[in-house]
Amino acid sequence: MSSYISDICDEINKQYREIRDANKKKQEKVIAEIYSKIPRIKKIDEKISDIALNVASDVLNGDASPQRAVQKMQADIKTLTDEKTRLLINSNYPVDVMKDIYCCDKCRDRGHVDGSRCSCYLQKRNIILQKLSNIKISEKNSFDKFNVNLFSDLADAKYGVSPQENIRSVYKIALSFARGEDGSPNNLLFYGATGLGKTFTSDCIAKSYIEQGKTVFYMSAPKMFSIFENYKFGRDISAATQRIISSVNSSELLIIDDLGTEFRNSYSDSILFDIINSRIIEEMPMIISTNLSIKDLKHIYSERICSRILGYFNVVLFFGEDLRLKGI
Ligand SMILES: [Zn+2]
Repeated sequence: MSSYISDICDEINKQYREIRDANKKKQEKVIAEIYSKIPRIKKIDEKISDIALNVASDVLNGDASPQRAVQKMQADIKTLTDEKTRLLINSNYPVDVMKDIYCCDKCRDRGHVDGSRCSCYLQKRNIILQKLSNIKISEKNSFDKFNVNLFSDLADAKYGVSPQENIRSVYKIALSFARGEDGSPNNLLFYGATGLGKTFTSDCIAKSYIEQGKTVFYMSAPKMFSIFENYKFGRDISAATQRIISSVNSSELLIIDDLGTEFRNSYSDSILFDIINSRIIEEMPMIISTNLSIKDLKHIYSERICSRILGYFNVVLFFGEDLRLKGI
C-alpha cells in the first residue's frame, strides 16, 4: 500500500473515531438528562447490571444451575425493562431514547461489515479522493451521461468519419482506459479545439478512478510548471507546494490539462520530460490534453519530449462543432 493510500485510510479511521466519540458524548448527555428527571430509571439500570453480575457469581459458587439462573435473570430483567419503558413513555420519551447512537447502523461507525468495507466507508474515501484530485467533477460528468448524439453524424471531409463516429470510438477508448482493461492504453493524449469534450471525457475517467478507490491528480500545465519552478528556485517550498509535487509524481492517474498554454523555458521543458518519463518508467497512467495539433506539438517541444508523448500515449483526436457554442 502506498503511503498516499495509507494516509487516506488513517484519515478515514480518524473520522470514524471522531464520529463514535461524538455520538458517545451525545448518548451520555441524554442518559444524564433522563437520570436527573427520572431517578428511578438510574436505579433500574444499576439493578440490571447487578443482576448479570450476581447470576455469574451464583453459578460460579454452585448456588444455582446455569439454566435456572439464566431463566430467572431473563425474567427479572424483563420486569425491570418493562418498568423502564413505562416510565419513559409516561415522560414522553421515545422508548429507545437511551440506546447507542450510530450515524451508520449497518457498520455501527466502524467502516466495515463482515470483513467488507461499508458503503459509508467508500463514501468517505471518495470524498477525500475527490478533494485530493484538485478537480470539481460535476455529477453530469460520468460515462453514463456520455451522449454521442450531441455530435454531428455527417462525415467530415478531412477525417473521413463523422464527429459522432469519432466520439463513439473516443468513448470506447476512454472507458477501457478507466477500467484498466487488458490491452487498454496506459496514457492518453487528448487533442483538438476547445468545446469538443476533452475535459468532459477526462472528468469521466477521473470519476471512475476515484470510484475504484484510486488517487487522481489534475492540474493545468501553466499552474503545474509554475509550482515546480517556484519550488526549484526556493520561492515557494511550503507544505502545500510539496504536497502538489508529490501528487504529480505519485497519484495513480495524473491529468495535465491545457499543455501548450504554459510559459515555456528550458526549465519547464526539463520538468515536463522528467514527469512524463518517470511516470512512463513506473507505468503510472497519464492523460494530457491540449489544443495544439500534433504538428504544433512537434514544432514546440523537443524531440525527446515528443518521442515520449507520441511513443507512449494513445493519441485521441476530438473534432466537430464546439458544443459550447451550441449551448451544451
Ligand atoms: Zn457504514
